[in-house]
Amino acid sequence: MFRIVIDGSLCSGFGDCADLAPDVFELEPNGKALLRFGTSVDPAVLEAAAACPMGAISVVEEGATPPLPRDRESRPSREPGNAALARGRPPGSHTADP
Ligand code: SF4
Repeated sequence: MFRIVIDGSLCSGFGDCADLAPDVFELEPNGKALLRFGTSVDPAVLEAAAACPMGAISVVEEGATPPLPRDRESRPSREPGNAALARGRPPGSHTADP
């Protein structure tokens, strides 16, 4: 079971999520993604989260074991500024990749 959250402040309405997992995501008339359900067993939600150009979708598998503290230290930071820099954009930039 996957728990899904959309950060509406990041969503720019590209619609990739609704294309990939239409049973879970839909686009509102204002162009923001809306969750039909906050949980799903459909692995397409993982694909949708990975495809979101804004990184607005979070998916957590319920019952998954959280990473050990040592694992966290060895991973690259997931802070938005660093992610933006990794994509060649300045921190705070929310423009889509071309
Ligand atoms: S893919 Fe991301 S940016 Fe696009 S509509 Fe869905 S949540 Fe919003």
